[in-house]
Amino acid sequence: MTRFVPDQDPFLPPSGPRLLNVRRLWAEPDALASPRGRQVRARFPDAEIVTVASHWNIDQLHGNAGNVDRWIRVKTEDLVLGVKKSLTARPNGRSADWIAPSTSNGCAMACAYCYVPRRKGYANPITVFTNIDKIVGYLERHVRRQGPKTVPNQCDPHAWVYDLGENSDCSVDALVSDNVADLITAFRAWPTAKASFATKYVNRDLLDLDPRERTRIRFSLMPEADSRLLDLRSTPIRQRIAAIDDFVAAGYEVHVNFSPVVVRPGWEEDWAELLEQLSDGTGGAFKAQAAAEIIMLTHNEQLHEVNLGWHPKSEDLLWQPPIQQAKRSQSGMWNVRYRNDVKAAGVRALTDLIAERTPWLTVRYAF
Ligand code: SF4
Repeated sequence: MTRFVPDQDPFLPPSGPRLLNVRRLWAEPDALASPRGRQVRARFPDAEIVTVASHWNIDQLHGNAGNVDRWIRVKTEDLVLGVKKSLTARPNGRSADWIAPSTSNGCAMACAYCYVPRRKGYANPITVFTNIDKIVGYLERHVRRQGPKTVPNQCDPHAWVYDLGENSDCSVDALVSDNVADLITAFRAWPTAKASFATKYVNRDLLDLDPRERTRIRFSLMPEADSRLLDLRSTPIRQRIAAIDDFVAAGYEVHVNFSPVVVRPGWEEDWAELLEQLSDGTGGAFKAQAAAEIIMLTHNEQLHEVNLGWHPKSEDLLWQPPIQQAKRSQSGMWNVRYRNDVKAAGVRALTDLIAERTPWLTVRYAF
């Protein structure tokens, strides 16, 4: 099996073992006893087992905003095993037709703008849902009920697209269990559907999974300078670009996810350079099937407060009241996004740059 091999690059991401050095498995008893739970247990045999009634609201792990030393340690040293209770595919219509029921939530990486912690609090280590057979069975029935896709849309011209990674990064999840491998295998057999996930981590183990074009990986990209400040613990941008052709050759559909686009002095020059990097670093097979989505930064007042406590430099980029406006979300949080005029100008500037520097790159949607 091919593994990511660290070199001397100073911006190396932590490799699997350093990104995760699991010392405690917080487990619902049913989850631990299941075949998937036993698999995770076998991958981390030295971890202490802590039995919990529910994967939600574990006091020692969740909601502990502000204490960053512990926050990163929790992401590295703790895993949670739970059973996903409610299985639903939610309509989306932007990047995917449907958001598939999660097979995990939480993340070992620590992007400063990440909205995933909104559910469990800011440490949010990975929770693996062990009832993967039920989740795959639910998806199979859902795909069958849709029948063929007869009207092309921005998600895909032919297939119903299911996003697998709304609450996690699937490339890192695949270090922990075979949930992602099982999903990729399942989608292989469903010709009317396609799996999709965005990722900031290059996990070369995924190259062995033979997806047969039924899984779309969207590598998230932003200028290297922004990424170094904001995408903590992720794979450096140029290594993500360097992996693209390998994933195409392995049978993945590979798109790019320009997200989040951060408006700051000089941002257009840096995005132009990123587009050049992408063009120079990838071959014809990628370019022939490539598409991009553009997502302008959305931030959050609570997350802003937390970030000020541990990574204030990130807030120099993320928190810019003169060009942002607030909007209360459905969950009652104050989200912050660029003013309409700033956002429209940003989208226009980036799509113009794409037309000029990477004319082969279709923009699937901009938001
Ligand atoms: S990789 Fe995705 S899920 Fe993980 S911290 Fe970054 S934005 Fe959040």
